[in-house]
Amino acid sequence: MIERISLSSSRAERNAQLRQLFPEVAGVDSVFEGGRAAALQRLRKLDAAAYGRTRNSLDGRVSRLSPYFRHGMLTLHEAADFALTHFKGASYKFVFELAWRDFWRRVQAAYGARIEQSIEPPKVPIGQRELPEDIINAATGLACMDAFARELVETGYVHNHARMWFASYVVHHRKVDWRAAAQWYYGELIDGDRASNHLSWQWIASTFSSKPYLFNRENLERYSDGVYCEQCPAKRRCPFDQSYESLHEKLFSTEFSQ
Ligand SMILES: Cc1cc2nc3c(=O)[nH]c(=O)nc-3n(C[C@H](O)[C@H](O)[C@H](O)COP(=O)(O)OP(=O)(O)OC[C@H]3O[C@@H](n4cnc5c(N)ncnc54)[C@H](O)[C@@H]3O)c2cc1C
Repeated sequence: MIERISLSSSRAERNAQLRQLFPEVAGVDSVFEGGRAAALQRLRKLDAAAYGRTRNSLDGRVSRLSPYFRHGMLTLHEAADFALTHFKGASYKFVFELAWRDFWRRVQAAYGARIEQSIEPPKVPIGQRELPEDIINAATGLACMDAFARELVETGYVHNHARMWFASYVVHHRKVDWRAAAQWYYGELIDGDRASNHLSWQWIASTFSSKPYLFNRENLERYSDGVYCEQCPAKRRCPFDQSYESLHEKLFSTEFSQ
């Protein structure tokens, strides 16, 4: 079947052909165009100063370069050099984030496949539940989490803050075994990278950090501009609508049944 797709055709033509050949496959055309030229084009659009100010917001000026790093179309050095040349000190935050990716890679080089298991004991009780269908199927009834799961499955790309909120919900609220969740998540990402993915899940779970990552409704609402909370069917019984102290107490004060 694949040989019927002409490689000299345009991207739009190839997408149309693929839809015809595999009508049963759900999803949308990738928002990412492959190749080195597309990677460089995206890099040239980087505004590293605006990135530093807005990166935590879902509509902030994030780079969306991760698929290009992941698939070898761009190096971290090229991106850091570009940012430092054009934005000097204002590129600090962007270069700092590139360094996280580099750090995770170095941890992977040192630990190998051990990054797929808890590196340290968790600092709070964590669960070992299987990944439930409602999370995979975006049917938890929480508008934010369902939107993040849908975005993951449909596009393969999710903003860093949404990845953090989602992982925290899955591991700490739903007590899912982080390894099962990380494996599923990795498989859905267009930038899926074992070092960045599995070590980030461990960072959230507290098996490779000094404390668990938690968020509350105020934090999510602020950085998502309230778009999910407004339409959420669970807005009156939002599990995140608490102070950090009471969240901690609720989630970790008692051992739960598996
Ligand atoms: C649960 C979870 C799973 C993740 N899984 C992956 C993964 O499989 N592959 C992956 O590339 N990244 C992963 N990340 C890290 C981060 O979310 C993505 O790199 C980032 O969202 C990619 O979007 P961007 O290129 O627009 O990032 P930007 O915010 O524009 O950042 C620029 C670059 O810096 C690096 N970077 C930014 N934030 C991080 C971070 N927290 N950790 C490591 N590197 C970072 C990335 O290379 C990114 O492309 C994960 C984070 C979490 C919390």
